[in-house]
Amino acid sequence: MKKVVICEDYCKGCELCVSVCPLHVLALSSRLNAQGYHPAELIDEEKCNNCTFCARICPDAAIEVYKPVPVSAGREKKD
Ligand code: SF4
Ligand code: SF4
Repeated sequence: MKKVVICEDYCKGCELCVSVCPLHVLALSSRLNAQGYHPAELIDEEKCNNCTFCARICPDAAIEVYKPVPVSAGREKKD
């Protein structure tokens, strides 16, 4: 599963997410989206630490961050 999913067509290229990313793994793409903006993209998924800063600051709710679920989560407890 991807750590960060960016809905490019919602993005207005404001760079707020780029500016708050503590690990500098976001950048604006050279491509244009359907609105004519350069959308944000994740340039180094390995380094991303799932901090969610980018998703929380995005004014257009264009970013979703997924965190890994512990393997034991959801298992029924056996006596
Ligand atoms: S989740 Fe954190 S580290 Fe990952 S891209 Fe967003 S701001 Fe950067
Ligand atoms: S904060 Fe949201 S709208 Fe702004 S560049 Fe990032 S993804 Fe695009």
